[in-house]
Amino acid sequence: MSSIHNFIFKGLPSRVVFGAGSLQNLKREVDALGARRALILATPHQKELAQDVSAQLGERSVGVYAHAIMHVPIESVTQAIGETERQRADCLVAVGGGSTIGLAKAIALQSGLPILAIPTTYAGSEMTPVYGITEAGRKRTGQDPRVLPRTVIYDVELTLSLAPLITVTSAMNAIAHAAEGLYAQNSNPVISSMAEQGIAAIARAIPTLHRSPSDLIARSDALYGAWLCGTVLGNVGMALHHKLCHVLGGTFNLPHSEVHSVVLPHALAFNASAAPTALQQIARALEVSDAPAGLFDLATHHGAPAGLKDIGMSEAELDLAADLVVSQPYWNPRPVGIEQRIQIRMLLQHAFEGIRP
Ligand code: NAD
Repeated sequence: MSSIHNFIFKGLPSRVVFGAGSLQNLKREVDALGARRALILATPHQKELAQDVSAQLGERSVGVYAHAIMHVPIESVTQAIGETERQRADCLVAVGGGSTIGLAKAIALQSGLPILAIPTTYAGSEMTPVYGITEAGRKRTGQDPRVLPRTVIYDVELTLSLAPLITVTSAMNAIAHAAEGLYAQNSNPVISSMAEQGIAAIARAIPTLHRSPSDLIARSDALYGAWLCGTVLGNVGMALHHKLCHVLGGTFNLPHSEVHSVVLPHALAFNASAAPTALQQIARALEVSDAPAGLFDLATHHGAPAGLKDIGMSEAELDLAADLVVSQPYWNPRPVGIEQRIQIRMLLQHAFEGIRP
């Protein structure tokens, strides 16, 4: 060790079952939670998968509720809670991406039901005690230990059906957690080493998945990396990049993973001078000399959109976005307040146009 370490490490209590075909352990894992009546949650798009999961659970399943919606509107939570009560469910099985896991979290927040998550994207929500619920057009987020999934089954085979665009953008979403974790105020050596490994595993996987989306080794690398990056997100604080994405996604209704993919290189370029060690660690994991440019290339050379203009943002909205990002103070390695509005507005302009940092 070459420096003096001072940190607090608090491992989050979740059980992870990882592997191709690991879904076959579902019944065992539901039993281990002491559950007898699991309700299976999914989006309408993944209803068929949820029905397979339900069939696999047999009498341990009380049915499928395939109405999860992006951003977890409060009305959908109320309806889903009604269903858990009607079915006398004693466990929530969430099979899908962050939207489905988000619905399970919102139900668990009120009911205290345990969650078994089966993630099928790289978003990482399954490893965090963070929830978000949208009410009257505003997404309220918070932390509660009850919403952390008790068990997570990562079955690589379930990610084979991820379309090319969400494969690369969701992978960039995962990298974003690790990248900001590396300069987090409350980081520690264990989380930093998970972050570096997570970035490296995903960076290895993206080019292969672009060429052959059903390569099981690359899918395994990507999901393993997503677990590591999700663990970082669940353990340490995030900064400017996540704030930018929250504002852009929440206020202008832009697609979650695509916003992360577009903004990350620019947020890191902004923070580079204040977090040189983290930037070096990211560059090392990517095997490039410059982290922001390397991430821009990794995304755009493999099918991700380059600019906010490509994902539905209008240039007229950039001023409001800059105002919102600097309006409330939060920790970032480089200060972000009213005094930095010009630089943040410029960052957004570059992200809008898709300029390589
Ligand atoms: P998503 O869950 O919205 O999924 C996008 C679409 O892809 C859905 O229609 C889904 O059914 C489909 N899909 C998912 N996996 C698939 C697969 N393997 N094959 C085919 N289709 C598949 O997208 P996401 O990016 O995973 O999640 C985004 C949401 O998660 C956002 O609302 C974000 O705020 C939230 N999130 C929360 C946290 C947290 O810690 N609370 C962390 C990350 C993301």
